[in-house]
Amino acid sequence: MKHIKRQRIYDLLKKDHSHLLGEEINVKGWVRTRRGNKNVAFIALNDGSIIHNIQIVVDVKAFGQDELLRAITTGSCISANGLLVQSQGKGQTLEIQASDIKLYGTADPEKYPLQKKGHTLEFLREIAHLRPRTNTFGAIFRIRHALSFAIHKFFDEHGFYYLHTPIITGSDAEGAGAMFRVTTLDPKHPPLTAAGEVDFSKDFFGKETNLTVSGQLEGELGALALSNIYTFGPTFRAENSNTSRHLSEFWMIEPEMAFYDIHDNMDLAESFLKYLIRYLLEHCEDDLAFLQKMYDEELTDRLSMIIDNAFVRITYTEAINILEQSGQRFEFPVEWGVDLQSEHERYLVEQEFRKPVILTDYPRSIKAFYMKLNDDGKTVRAMDVLFPKIGEIVGGSQREEDYEKLYGRIKEMGIEEGDVWWYLETRKFGTAPHSGFGLGFERLMLFVTGMGNIRDVIPFPRAPQNADF
Ligand code: ATP
Ligand code: MN
Repeated sequence: MKHIKRQRIYDLLKKDHSHLLGEEINVKGWVRTRRGNKNVAFIALNDGSIIHNIQIVVDVKAFGQDELLRAITTGSCISANGLLVQSQGKGQTLEIQASDIKLYGTADPEKYPLQKKGHTLEFLREIAHLRPRTNTFGAIFRIRHALSFAIHKFFDEHGFYYLHTPIITGSDAEGAGAMFRVTTLDPKHPPLTAAGEVDFSKDFFGKETNLTVSGQLEGELGALALSNIYTFGPTFRAENSNTSRHLSEFWMIEPEMAFYDIHDNMDLAESFLKYLIRYLLEHCEDDLAFLQKMYDEELTDRLSMIIDNAFVRITYTEAINILEQSGQRFEFPVEWGVDLQSEHERYLVEQEFRKPVILTDYPRSIKAFYMKLNDDGKTVRAMDVLFPKIGEIVGGSQREEDYEKLYGRIKEMGIEEGDVWWYLETRKFGTAPHSGFGLGFERLMLFVTGMGNIRDVIPFPRAPQNADF
């Protein structure tokens, strides 16, 4: 087969291809369908660069190789040379008149699971090694890429430095959830202390270590030196919560800013979320249109609703009053002091305001030790951003910068001082007001794709009883 430079289907369909019209080009990809008759065969080829296929037209008699053509079935992989021409058929602008085809890999129609359409998302989860080849997952993973890229772009444009915080940690100070232990000790015969406990001083790091639940504490160390930093990395929770919103391994974005108070923090979260959604609407039009058509008619309306509205900002106390006076029967009853459930959050966003909402000043008892105490002594300078369909999408706060107050909270909550001495030292040496927040990447992916299950917005989900692929 003659060597001709490969063209990505994205480039052919989305970029200026006029200089290639009438030229012999090459495309490579996976066959979505082959149809036709004795005289002509039509191959729909997809290379994953874009949701659309390109049509390859084969003049069967002139082409000759019947056996080769027969082996080009759904799922097989080919390389095709041919003339790029304006298409006569409906629904496509370009097609390729094949001159030569090389078959890289067959896909036995009796065995290849992705025949045609109509598989359930549940079934596709069981074939996570092949589901990227479907339109749905192609669209989702391209959006996932675009969203990641937009996150880095936003922070780079706004003077934030990307800080890599550790994945293996020696402390459980965050208290955000159960952790996965990291160890090289022999599970059958671990070394024991005199008291008969496992002796972790003999473990790889000389202490107990776990996979991180958040990069925030280390992020604060970065902010108190570089001013504005963000993390974007995997985090882990060993919670046995088999829900459509929880993963055992998920990605988190955590900006942390010196000299930001809670209002600056809210402004940043709002402009960040709007920027990301605007970026997707501009860059992922075709993939969003596909998901809207297939899964969620209101998808782009919901995305526009975020961009078009100023986020409502009210206190937790005001929110409790609204919920108490709503006359709604909630599964979890509301009173001042309770942690809000997603039914409450969604009521505020979807029924009461019909806009994104930011709640501030939560009771200290339901929030983490590092949040700055308000003068009332009862509430902390926390801020949660609530979205339709999702509930809490961002959780953040102004951090306690006062050494004595922070130390008091650490003692009160029974946190080992030996685990956080380094964190406390930032308040001893050149402390500064600062703030930050955490955004669960897959929760945002759920929102922007309209998918219903968090396992469908990450390529290879990790969940209780599931670490395949
Ligand atoms: P939830 O109440 O939903 O379990 P959380 O209060 O445990 O959330 P945080 O500890 O505040 O969440 O984590 C920060 C963000 O990370 C959350 O706002 C959410 O977007 C995301 N997140 C938390 N737990 C998970 C999980 N198990 N899988 C995916 N994303 C998660
Ligand atoms: Mn949780």
